[in-house]
Amino acid sequence: MADMKQYVEDVLNLVKQRDPDQPEFQNTVKEVLTTVVPVLEKNPQYKEAKILERMVEAERIITFRVPWQDDKGEVQINRGYRVQMNSAIGPYKGGLRFHPSVNLSILKFLAFEQVYKNALTGLPIGGGKGGSDFDPKGKSDNEVMKFCQSFMTELYRHIGPNVDVPAGDIGVGGREIGYLFGQYKRLRDSYDAGVLTGKGVDYWGSLARTEATGYGLLYFVKNMLDDKGIDMKGKTVVVSGSGNVATYAIEKAQTFGAKVVTCSDSNGYVYDPEGIDLDVVKEIKQVRRGRIKEYVEKRPNAEYHEGCKGVWTVKCDIALPCATQSEIDLESAKALVANGVQAVGEGANMPSTLEAIAYFQENKILFAPAKAANAGGVATSALEMAQNSERLQWTFEEVDGRLQGIMKNIYQSAKKNAEKYADPDDLVAGANITAFVKVADVMMAHGIV
Ligand code: NDP
Repeated sequence: MADMKQYVEDVLNLVKQRDPDQPEFQNTVKEVLTTVVPVLEKNPQYKEAKILERMVEAERIITFRVPWQDDKGEVQINRGYRVQMNSAIGPYKGGLRFHPSVNLSILKFLAFEQVYKNALTGLPIGGGKGGSDFDPKGKSDNEVMKFCQSFMTELYRHIGPNVDVPAGDIGVGGREIGYLFGQYKRLRDSYDAGVLTGKGVDYWGSLARTEATGYGLLYFVKNMLDDKGIDMKGKTVVVSGSGNVATYAIEKAQTFGAKVVTCSDSNGYVYDPEGIDLDVVKEIKQVRRGRIKEYVEKRPNAEYHEGCKGVWTVKCDIALPCATQSEIDLESAKALVANGVQAVGEGANMPSTLEAIAYFQENKILFAPAKAANAGGVATSALEMAQNSERLQWTFEEVDGRLQGIMKNIYQSAKKNAEKYADPDDLVAGANITAFVKVADVMMAHGIV
């Protein structure tokens, strides 16, 4: 074991030396590689083939200038990126993020995570991520369109349905995907529907993609609870967020007979002792684009609390963080455990800090890690690619049925590898190991490339 621990240390040092200014990337590499030591021990061929050294080096990184003109006629210059991390299993796949905080370290971190998340889905997709430091907030539709067209004018030569298939992420929703797709189609003079996912249903987007991440989270959590003989019916659930993931997580939790008592936005949270009325939330967030505090106007028995952190002090059986990264820190984890939480399922990306996860695990709380539990979104994007390839559109029920099967499979394979290599309930290690072995074996089969 010491030998392989040392090998992992050496690779982590190599990453630090090569990318000293990329803390986010270093952290995620550390998180994944330290959990796969037992696999390396049983498979020395990975070390001989320098699989880890290859995995931490992106296959290709493109950075480019994105010039555009704002509504005042002023020229603006942003920086565009695409990190093509690993294509062992399929075309690079991962979202585009438009946000001022975007830099290479963050995109490499997200691309690295994406490789393993995508491998878990069992579908033919490699991993990538891209974006720009452009901030769509406060920009007119015309400015967003001009930016997207300029961005795609460079990106189009590096992507394609069999090469690299971007999707949305923070700051990139249906509007942006539409503009990006329109420009790609114009430049290629070809209707390659499968070049982007998250498209509108009228131009070959997939039904159930909108619901997929939230529904998928609940399918995963239900598998985890069923395995322990715990019935979700009648359980009290705390959800954070009121965006895409949170909304459909609440919807499916309610379908399963649970009582969801909270939701939140970046200003505060609402507590509804009678159970969240999702129609009211949808009306506020999807129709009026309002603030969650307006909820109490329609539901007089509900309470609104300023600040988001308090949501984790609400007593519950199941906690589903669906808002943003690092929203559950050690203090919040302690509050949840003290209040008797039985299970935590991560809908957002990396919503629990490493200290919080360790605390949940020490206290034997069932823990569904994001990489596995929120993979339903990207899995359904891969189903969108499949529909585009056959030039057909499946029904909602067909997509949802496949999603249920995929989430069950992800749970079972993570559980099996947790039992084989780690603590039987350690789904963090189980998911990392499942994905790592899959990618590593295919890389071995492809030779030194
Ligand atoms: P949305 O933008 O639709 O919703 C995000 C929600 O989180 C909003 O309610 C937002 O409130 C709230 N929020 C944002 N920042 C904070 C904060 N600092 N504290 C508390 N709440 C906050 O995003 P999604 O629902 O799509 O994504 C949520 C998370 O899930 C992200 O981590 C994303 O990367 C991840 N994810 C999403 C997938 C998808 O398919 N959509 C797939 C896999 C992962 P406000 O309205 O005030 O901004």
